[in-house]
Amino acid sequence: MKNNELFTRLTESALALGATRASVIETNLISLDPAFREMCASNACGTYGKCWMCPPDVGNIEDLMKQVGSYRYALVYQTVSELEDSFDIEGMFEARKSVSQVAQKLRNTFSIPEISTVLHLTVGGCGVCEVCAKRTGEPCRAPELAMASLEAYGVNVSKLAEAAGMKYINGKDTVTYFGAVLFCTDGGSVDEE
Ligand code: SF4
Repeated sequence: MKNNELFTRLTESALALGATRASVIETNLISLDPAFREMCASNACGTYGKCWMCPPDVGNIEDLMKQVGSYRYALVYQTVSELEDSFDIEGMFEARKSVSQVAQKLRNTFSIPEISTVLHLTVGGCGVCEVCAKRTGEPCRAPELAMASLEAYGVNVSKLAEAAGMKYINGKDTVTYFGAVLFCTDGGSVDEE
């Protein structure tokens, strides 16, 4: 399978699984900045130090940014969800849940011989368990499903949106979430374009 056919297939899968938009870009277009780790450290979301996939437990920022560069391509996707108004917390929660579902369902899409290595990144903290095992001092319950956020890896999400040809904000009374799957094809049978 040629890369362009593979990329079309991955993009179509993301859309079929519930993404509003999806596109494959090269990872050299991804803008990284350790400042996003500092935003995590401000603990606005309340999960700093309370989830195995959030900082500081997810790993050293320099190492994680290096990891991003070790993948050649990224499937970038977004979900755009309608809200009743800007105070619709329940709607935001549901929207957050739906992007996490897309992220988890994409695991199967990427379990194909044409793709050699994969890193799934999503929005916010891991969100697989209702209460992360970190809070109760236990090891991660599902390391095969656990996902870190784009920001934890230093990804500038607004620039990522731009690189993928997407809007970061999609209008009044909507909430937009992003995810990305970083991958390499060089270990598989995919021909280079
Ligand atoms: S899978 Fe569960 S225990 Fe592991 S990091 Fe995610 S929320 Fe925490």
